[in-house]
Amino acid sequence: MKIVGLTGGIGSGKTTIGKWFLEEGIPVYNSDSEAKKLINEDLQIVKSLTGLFGEETYQNGIYNSKYVASKVFNDKELLENLNQIVHPAVFRHFDNWVKNQTTSFVVKEAAILFESGSYKDCDAIISVVADEEIRIQRVAGRDGSNPEQVRKRMDNQWKDEQRISLSDYVIYNNSDLNDLKKEFDQVYKKLLKQFQSS
Ligand code: ATP
Repeated sequence: MKIVGLTGGIGSGKTTIGKWFLEEGIPVYNSDSEAKKLINEDLQIVKSLTGLFGEETYQNGIYNSKYVASKVFNDKELLENLNQIVHPAVFRHFDNWVKNQTTSFVVKEAAILFESGSYKDCDAIISVVADEEIRIQRVAGRDGSNPEQVRKRMDNQWKDEQRISLSDYVIYNNSDLNDLKKEFDQVYKKLLKQFQSS
C-alpha cells in the first residue's frame, strides 16, 4: 500500500483537496480529526494526559484543549511530552486503518506531516501552498477564527519554503476553487501513473 502525504499550513486547502480524493474513491485519513477522537476516546491517552496535566485535562469527560494549550504554550518540554503521547498513538491507529484499505494508494492528510516526522513513511508528498494573508482570510471566513490566533498557530508550523523543499508535488492555492481543482486533477493523474503501475 502506497501512502501519499497531504500537507500544508493552516487554511491552505488540504481538506478541500482531501474531499476530491475521496470523490475519486481514494481513502483519506485525516490525522488532525483522528487525533482529536483518540484524545477523547483512547483510555491509555486519557490516563497519560491526565497524569501529565492533571484532572482539569478533561471536563465531564471531554478534552479541554484550551487548558492544555495554555499549559504548553510557553513550555517546549511539556509540548514535547504531549506530542510523545499523542503522535505514536495516531501513527498506530493509521497503520491499522491502512491495513483495511484496498486501493493502490491512500492519502494521509496532516497539517504537521513534517513536524511530526510522519512524512518519512510517505511514498509521495503533496504540499498545498497559499499566501499567509489569503489563508488567514479563508480561515476567518470558514470558522470565524481571529486573525491573530491564526497567525500564532502559523508561527508554530513550518514555512511553505521548508515544505516545498521536501515535497514531490506542490499545489498552489492563491486563486479560486476552479483553478485549485485543475491543479488537483493534474497531480491526481500523475499519482495514478506513479502508483497504479507499481
Ligand atoms: P486547516 O489546516 O485549518 O484544517 P485546510 O488546509 O484543511 O485548513 P480548507 O479547510 O480546505 O484548508 O480551506 C480553508 C477554507 O478556505 C475553507 O473554508 C475552504 O472552503 C476555503 N478555500 C480553500 N481554497 C479556496 C479557494 N481557492 N478559494 C476560495 N476558498 C477556498
